[in-house]
Amino acid sequence: MPYNAPLTEYRFLLDHIVGFDQVAATETYADASPDTVEAILSEAAKLAQTVLAPLQRPGDLHPAKLENGVVRTSPGFAEGYRAIVEGGWVSIAANPEFGGMGLPMTLTTAVNEMMGSACLSLQLNPLMTQGQIEALEHHASDEIKALYIPKLISGEWCGTMNLTEAQAGSDVGALRSKAEPNGNGTYDITGQKIYISWGDNDFSENVCHLVLARLPDGVAGTKGISLFLVPKFIPDDQGNVGAANSLSVVSLEHKMGLHGSPTAVMQYDGATGWLIGEPHKGMAAMFTMMNNARLGVGVQGISVAEGAYQHALAYAMERKQGKTPMAGNDAISGHADVRRMLATMKAEVFSARAIALACAVAIDMAKATGSPEWKARAALLTPITKAFGTDTGIAVADMGIQVHGGMGFIEETGAAQYLRDVRVTAIYEGTNGIQAMDLVGRKMMDKGEAAFRLIEEIESNAHGVRAQYPDMAAAVWDAAESLREATEGLIAQEMNDRFAGAVAYQQAFARVLGSHYHLCAAMAEGKDGPRTALARVAIKRLLPQHKALLAQVSLGAEGLYALSDADLLA
Ligand SMILES: Cc1cc2nc3c(=O)[nH]c(=O)nc-3n(C[C@H](O)[C@H](O)[C@H](O)COP(=O)(O)OP(=O)(O)OC[C@H]3O[C@@H](n4cnc5c(N)ncnc54)[C@H](O)[C@@H]3O)c2cc1C
Repeated sequence: MPYNAPLTEYRFLLDHIVGFDQVAATETYADASPDTVEAILSEAAKLAQTVLAPLQRPGDLHPAKLENGVVRTSPGFAEGYRAIVEGGWVSIAANPEFGGMGLPMTLTTAVNEMMGSACLSLQLNPLMTQGQIEALEHHASDEIKALYIPKLISGEWCGTMNLTEAQAGSDVGALRSKAEPNGNGTYDITGQKIYISWGDNDFSENVCHLVLARLPDGVAGTKGISLFLVPKFIPDDQGNVGAANSLSVVSLEHKMGLHGSPTAVMQYDGATGWLIGEPHKGMAAMFTMMNNARLGVGVQGISVAEGAYQHALAYAMERKQGKTPMAGNDAISGHADVRRMLATMKAEVFSARAIALACAVAIDMAKATGSPEWKARAALLTPITKAFGTDTGIAVADMGIQVHGGMGFIEETGAAQYLRDVRVTAIYEGTNGIQAMDLVGRKMMDKGEAAFRLIEEIESNAHGVRAQYPDMAAAVWDAAESLREATEGLIAQEMNDRFAGAVAYQQAFARVLGSHYHLCAAMAEGKDGPRTALARVAIKRLLPQHKALLAQVSLGAEGLYALSDADLLA
């Protein structure tokens, strides 16, 4: 499907909204000069527009297949993957010591978004590899790093993550896969993993699985889990692939969408694996990959929202139905309700993208400076980015269908594919409910310090422009103040009360934060132009939702358990 990369938007956000200049000013990211940023973004845009976008539809129509134990990918995917690899796009953030470019996560975020808008199911493949590279960089032995990371960065080998088992989904600690030491530094891995994205393919020389399993002395629950690297083909010291490992793809799932991405049931039958990190510390090591993937999956939601918006806008500009009140526009885009949908879609994409880029900036600043404040900011923003990015992807794709009317329900327009593809992003990498629980639980263990610091910034910014933008600044300040009060209340609650209001709290936080960035956009524009008009849509029409959401936060679990199981069944 046609796609135009929003390059002007990225430049605006980097230059005026999320403070990318701080990242580029650090020694770690000294190479991220304006020229480099320009070159990276425009080259990635070319790849997305010309090579990957044409694969979106074939991937949907011709899902990956399992033939005699071998995964056959969708038509054109092998060529698309080769183009990603040849352009060096698998992991532009990876460490130069291993052949990476060492560029900021902020740029990776923009590049991933473009690749995801163009073809989400193929983009999921390098996204998994990116996470694996980061996990190995942090936790693997020097030998493993030297052997595997260059191959993963070059794209010769792909990476996957294997957590989920039939009885262990959100509750990873319930996993049963076993690891037996062989006495020679390797381990025999046995068990079955389900829903493994890109569990195999027919275009990379090797597939490296990061697998969670339990050692014989591992206690029950998450504290007894270790992480292992289990390659499809066992390499020699020089990185030449050798014998096939004892693992196989049992089947591929038949899914609602994302058809081009093979989602595999993987069987490990005493497969040879190498321990990554300390025994029994597998969850901590896997979290490096998961945090990377959580930002990445949030960005997938934005990818789809952007694609669905462009697609719906093109249709709304052409389709004619009845008379509109707009002079010179007799297409449906001139009707107030269609205009509402288009404006909402655009405003939401802006908010979600600004939040994701701000999260990436915090990750880069944390890495470059080691500052605990930046680390805490990145940790706070990660679940918000994941959940709001993917919620936005779903809501915008849904609105895109509505803009199309009946044609939105007819597969040939492609509007439905956006919604079918993006739906899973709110489920995988930890459901959005689990993200919200992370936000109100683990991310508030600092008694809300990181949250209060961010809220304070929002309030002080809004306060500073009260005279210039009285209507918008006052609304943002008031909303931030309500969020501050709700955060104080939340911290005083019992954990299950927090959990009951967690999704509402996370959504309200994203609303306030998104409106803050809209206000910043109006300030950067400095006059009443399109960004200010869009900011008014976000702040006057969407931000008021925070009140209803925060009202739920203060309720806690009250009344939810008043409905017994029998009541629910009645
Ligand atoms: C297409 C696809 C690709 C995937 N790719 C991968 C992959 O590459 N690697 C991998 O390891 N896994 C992968 N997954 C698995 C995915 O991460 C899980 O589906 C997800 O974590 C949820 O687990 P579950 O499906 O078992 O749902 P469950 O855990 O059974 O959850 C069901 C519902 O209960 C809620 N819930 C569960 N526990 C709690 C709790 N404690 N408190 C509140 N609510 C709770 C959930 O939020 C959800 O709404 C993939 C899944 C899909 C569908």
